[in-house]
Amino acid sequence: MSKLVAGNWKMFGDQNMLSEIKVIDQYCHKIDCEVAICPPFQLILSAHQQTKNIKIGAQNCHINANGPHTGEVSAEMLIDVGAELILVGHSERRQDNNETNKIIKQKAEAVQRAGATAVVCIGETLEERKADRTLQVLQEQMLNCLPKNVNPKNTVVAYEPVWAIGTGLVPEIDQIRSAHSFIRGFLASTFGAEAHNVKILYGGSVKGSNAREIFSISNVNGALVGGASLKSSDFIEIIKAAS
Ligand code: PEP
Repeated sequence: MSKLVAGNWKMFGDQNMLSEIKVIDQYCHKIDCEVAICPPFQLILSAHQQTKNIKIGAQNCHINANGPHTGEVSAEMLIDVGAELILVGHSERRQDNNETNKIIKQKAEAVQRAGATAVVCIGETLEERKADRTLQVLQEQMLNCLPKNVNPKNTVVAYEPVWAIGTGLVPEIDQIRSAHSFIRGFLASTFGAEAHNVKILYGGSVKGSNAREIFSISNVNGALVGGASLKSSDFIEIIKAAS
């Protein structure tokens, strides 16, 4: 299956940064993988209007379509301005906003209801890995965060070890292989044949210099990239490795 390289800009980026998105979009003319950028909310519409070859996504949404929820944005509203995929359950939101597996599942359901692709983020903390609980944590998160219907169109799973996000630390190749193979097995046994084509992204300190090796691991169908997605030249190195 073709790989997906998705950039998560977190809370970085103003209108000047749209030029980076345009450079990435131009590079992505006729390449052999899917590319997405999830900028902060205020850039989604302009990014969508100024791109042809990449998808634009969002980093979060509310569980409802609309209502008296001051300061919130729904999946329907994000789609209205051009978002095609929406991250849910990023570890920074789990930590900063106390998002639980239950809330994350409701958000993933909201994304599906609205008709976009939910990129559901899961991953263990360093403590959990040291206690040899990684696969158990991944199973709990998948059992409790994934909606009833999961198929390649409505869901992507992103494996992001919390200790590898923004730290420069990357798991051993075997650790990534074992987590991705476990996730694939869970998806196949829970959601059936269609789940074989659900993309599983690796996320955590991916950069141009390590992307090729990470993409060669079985069941790694792309990457969710934070820091290295902010500069077009860095991000394009990762795209090259995937295409
Ligand atoms: C992320 O924010 O999802 C991420 C993987 O960040 P980084 O690539 O900077 O580790």
